[in-house]
Amino acid sequence: MLGNGINFKNSEDIEVAERRYLDGGIKKKYVFFILLFSFIIFPISFYVVRKLNSSLFIENKFIEKTDGKILGHFPYKEVGKELLIEVEPNILVHREMYSSLLEMRSDAYKEGVYLVFLSGFRSIKLQNEIFYSIKSLRNQSAFERARVSAPPGFSEHSTGFAIDIGDALKRESDFEVEFENTKAFKWLKQNAAKYHFKMSFDKNHKNVDYEPWHWRYEGSIESLKIFEASNRSSKK
Ligand SMILES: [Zn+2]
Repeated sequence: MLGNGINFKNSEDIEVAERRYLDGGIKKKYVFFILLFSFIIFPISFYVVRKLNSSLFIENKFIEKTDGKILGHFPYKEVGKELLIEVEPNILVHREMYSSLLEMRSDAYKEGVYLVFLSGFRSIKLQNEIFYSIKSLRNQSAFERARVSAPPGFSEHSTGFAIDIGDALKRESDFEVEFENTKAFKWLKQNAAKYHFKMSFDKNHKNVDYEPWHWRYEGSIESLKIFEASNRSSKK
């Protein structure tokens, strides 16, 4: 017997109700939730998060890999009309390439080579007509057609920095691979770089057929920016 009035006889004196053990019902509930979380909720959440991550990863990788390309063609915006200038009746080109283009033609002329401009700026609307009408006329699939013509929104011609060139003395070779046998093509191959022109689709191009008549201008910052992705991918 102690002075504070509490008697400690032995451990049996502590009331049963005071023992804070979990009774059977509560115990079962906890076990149920622990099992539910460990074997069902946690694995499902883990799976969902992993799945989401990997699909995002694959998507990013895909975008990076293709650079937004469709059927081997890079996407190009349509240049504003105010930046275009007529180089020939009905042939518009970007103002920034206008003088280089004319200079190239006149220098070729001095050497007895007669370049003729076949096609310059093309609107996305016109490209749409070309791509879909010719495709159906020739009974070709989009994939086959894309080898010889860019889908709308994916043509270098929409930038104003592309020009199709022929030989004035060999008009039958216009837009034909035979153009490579003309004096005009041989001259271009040797000299075009001096005027900042480059053939876009050479023989090694994976997705687009060889187009010896199609040249693009890379003599300004704007044009270099536009063709940056294409140049980068061709170096890989
Ligand atoms: Zn072209």
